[in-house]
Amino acid sequence: MRQNQLMLSTLRESPGDAEAISHQLMLRAGYIRQVAAGIYTYMPLGRRVLRKVEEIVREEMDRAGAQELLMPALQPAELWKESGRYGVYGPELMRLQDRHEREFALGPTHEEVITTLVRNEISSYRRLPVTLYQIQTKFRDERRPRFGLLRGREFLMKDAYSFDTDWEGLDASYQRMYKAYHRIFERCGLNFRAVEADAGAIGGEGGTHEFMALADIGEDTIAACTCCGYAANLEKATSRAAASESVGSHTAGPSHSASVPAIEKFHTPGIRTIDQLVQSVGAAASDMLKTVVFVADEQVVAVVVRGDHEINELKVKHYLGAEDIAIADAETVLRLTGVPTGFIGPVGLTLPVLVDYAAAELTHGIAGANEGDYHYRNVQPGRDFELSRTGDFRNAAEGDGCPSCAEGTLQFYRGIEVGHVFKLGTKYSEKLGAQFLDSSGKSQTMIMGCYGIGVSRVLSAVVEQHYDANGIIWPIGIAPYQVHLIPIAVKDEAQMQAAQQLYDRLLAEGVEVLLDDRDERAGVKFKDADLIGIPLRIVVGRDIASGQVEYMERRAGEKQAIGTEEALERVL
Ligand code: ATP
Ligand code: MG
Ligand code: MG
Ligand code: MG
Repeated sequence: MRQNQLMLSTLRESPGDAEAISHQLMLRAGYIRQVAAGIYTYMPLGRRVLRKVEEIVREEMDRAGAQELLMPALQPAELWKESGRYGVYGPELMRLQDRHEREFALGPTHEEVITTLVRNEISSYRRLPVTLYQIQTKFRDERRPRFGLLRGREFLMKDAYSFDTDWEGLDASYQRMYKAYHRIFERCGLNFRAVEADAGAIGGEGGTHEFMALADIGEDTIAACTCCGYAANLEKATSRAAASESVGSHTAGPSHSASVPAIEKFHTPGIRTIDQLVQSVGAAASDMLKTVVFVADEQVVAVVVRGDHEINELKVKHYLGAEDIAIADAETVLRLTGVPTGFIGPVGLTLPVLVDYAAAELTHGIAGANEGDYHYRNVQPGRDFELSRTGDFRNAAEGDGCPSCAEGTLQFYRGIEVGHVFKLGTKYSEKLGAQFLDSSGKSQTMIMGCYGIGVSRVLSAVVEQHYDANGIIWPIGIAPYQVHLIPIAVKDEAQMQAAQQLYDRLLAEGVEVLLDDRDERAGVKFKDADLIGIPLRIVVGRDIASGQVEYMERRAGEKQAIGTEEALERVL
């Protein structure tokens, strides 16, 4: 590609509202342009990188035996109603109507469509197992689209789905994907960890792992052992030390600071409502009250009151043990109940546990003990809630003992979730009737897994890990071009001719080359080249008279004068 013709403009300054370094650099280097919040155009350079990542994903999916298909982004609401997710998914689901006022959704994920497809196509065990995948645009109306491609409202995802006849089969399918994910992220040049993730949110029948690219901008926290391979999302992580010491002996664990009093179990006979609990602990809560509503299966299961900080949906899911649960918006509540959201009070059966939870948050220290008429006090919200579920381990704090080995302690890292693998079991196949006949002719329900990769998110995650003060440094496997060929003076015939010859030879060898044939000052060319981040660079300057060019690796930054033949050899 000749840079003169390339649709590319670089920016000297980063746009004011871009917080993440990857967002700034990808805008400045002309890889992406914003159309609206969380919605981007991939410019020619960005499109090339995206395709590289797609190709790696495709190769590894195919290698693992998965088959590619392409499903529609536009999905009839009926499918989502059948699975029970239409109401549950909440405001993240982009909803729309056609001209006949039929309801549709733009797919945030494709369990409904694929399960229905496989239900209709496969009826015998002989045609199982099968793993299908697609690389496709997804839509999610994220509450806070930000950080460029890291959290978009329209983004590219690889989603795969496996269908097996039994749980052992699912284990094998899952393992194949798990391994393929390692290869994919390695080939993309990411420094990543596969971590145990929280299954509570989707039901927890099987296992689930998230693939986390380590980066400070990451929105997840990972707890990893200094000794063994234990690594988990903090949402899921537990730890050894604190549990026995703080609950068993009523003394604070080693990681509690001195000012935090020990957790204590206390008797709370007859307390069944938030008012009673609030009264019994003497908290002045009324001015902090807010209504939060949970819906499951198109039904409102509870309305609870709580304090001002953000509610953690996951914890509530734990408490309820519900598979599909979401915090609803005002409109959904009104539609399902006719009750305006100004209403505060119980609706439904699961209230006592939620009341415990809400009250714990309200009073900053009370949690249900999972035992009739008892509560814990002096609980640190967000850290200790696990106590009331298991009684063994509590949420991990940095420096705590590893829950899986005797020696190690836990260290915390920030991570970007670039992939997620999940054993779904029969969650969707049951609801949507994906059955098959087994070898004895008996009807059985298919066992499913689902596997996602944020293809566009990977671009940003890679940049977060590969840049310096001057710009991006692409790993060669996903770089838009492998070689940046820069003649310094394009009006100099000898330089241009030599550059052209190198260009032709590299192309003939199948190398992707960007030839900077612009009539610009050397400084401008180098600045742009640094920003764009093509990993190998060959500069053709005055020394071409003696057959020499300058060879440079963008990462090392060290320039070497070598002969043209040697430069070619190094590239090839
Ligand atoms: P997150 O926790 O970041 O919101 P998620 O758990 O909701 O992600 P999944 O439903 O597991 O996402 O989707 C599979 C993959 O799609 C994720 O691992 C992530 O890499 C990617 N992804 C999810 N949401 C977005 C988004 N808004 N923008 C870009 N990529 C996304
Ligand atoms: Mg999400
Ligand atoms: Mg997640
Ligand atoms: Mg996820």
